[in-house]
Amino acid sequence: MSGDILTLNAGSSSLKFAVFDAEARDRTPRISGMIAGIGRAPEFSARASGGAPLDTGDFGALGAETSHAEGIVLLLDWLARHQGERPLQAVGHRVVHGGKGFSAPTRVTDAVLAELETLVPLAPLHQPHNLAAIRAVAAWRPDLCQIACFDTGFHHTQDRLSRIFALPRALTDEGIIRYGFHGLSYDHIARVLPEHLGPRAEGRVIVAHLGNGASLCAMKGRKSLATSMGFTALDGLVMGRRCGSLDPGVLLYLMQSKGMGVAEIEDLLYRQSGLFGVSGISNNMRVLEQSGAPEADEAIALFAYRAASVLAGLLPALGGLDALVFTAGIGENSARTRQAICAHLGWLGVEVDAAANAENAVRISSDGSAVDVLVVPTDEEAVIAAACRALLDDAAA
Ligand code: ADP
Repeated sequence: MSGDILTLNAGSSSLKFAVFDAEARDRTPRISGMIAGIGRAPEFSARASGGAPLDTGDFGALGAETSHAEGIVLLLDWLARHQGERPLQAVGHRVVHGGKGFSAPTRVTDAVLAELETLVPLAPLHQPHNLAAIRAVAAWRPDLCQIACFDTGFHHTQDRLSRIFALPRALTDEGIIRYGFHGLSYDHIARVLPEHLGPRAEGRVIVAHLGNGASLCAMKGRKSLATSMGFTALDGLVMGRRCGSLDPGVLLYLMQSKGMGVAEIEDLLYRQSGLFGVSGISNNMRVLEQSGAPEADEAIALFAYRAASVLAGLLPALGGLDALVFTAGIGENSARTRQAICAHLGWLGVEVDAAANAENAVRISSDGSAVDVLVVPTDEEAVIAAACRALLDDAAA
């Protein structure tokens, strides 16, 4: 199948893309880049496979008012000029929530899109942008094959006990269960883990995806057994602007005693909390690390403590721990956060080599550590491209 596969990962304020050769099986994109800062001061950047920056001077005008959909149209036009004579075979999208209906990568039809639309309230920060990207591509080239790859999909191997809430059965049957997220990232780590751990990759592993959104996944045999996110991407760890696990009684109090409505509570939980809310300074870990303000230090300390305590809560699913893997923006780059999390896990036999950690080395555990501690970059785009290739191959067979 000659031509290209385009992957789109539409986040709340960014649009990441990558162009892969549809035939080549390697994980390196021919072109990749992003529009960052959508809604504020958007900037476009792109690079070729060797890392060399590409000419972006002919990208259309971006401004604070440029929407995700408009950004995609500009991107598609730019790609048409820079991609060469290669036909696009498919566009693969990261879609955060697949709900009860979708776990495997799925070719998008009008009916699929309508069903994914019903899940917007479950992922208000991401799902609307994911679906806007699909619609923008459909308007540009209605005939083009579009494939949705779900962040919830990787967790479908979990057993019922890991998935249900202690709510009445009728609500469970309706689909109010723990779905889990960051599945494309966990899928990538699961694929590359044997390169780093050999046979221990099949053992008891916890992956910490620590970015703006943050979660943990407990894996055995490289399959998800439990995860820290639940019905929505609010549960679990402290995040950039999301609170993570919260006593549900707080919500009742806010409604009953403070008269807060749904929109206000949604804004509080998704946008005003987390590192941003606790520090009152920023949602950005790098900014907090450089700040030195006691509120910033407290936010980082809470992030680390909660990550360790949520990790401990996943251990019954595994019965112990052989390896801990850090990934995503904070996990790959913040030596301070990794050290702070691991400092709470000494009782498990986790021991970090300070010099290796400071260098963001792949293996940061000391020789005597009972648990391997690794730093492995995530690559959601490679997982989406692989899913597209598999579906295209099936369709051609
Ligand atoms: P997203 O969920 O938006 O994809 P990322 O995975 O890119 O997020 O992670 C963004 C987070 O990573 C931000 O909090 C950012 O400050 C943090 N980060 C990136 N580089 C560093 C660094 N060198 N030191 C500390 N934190 C970093």
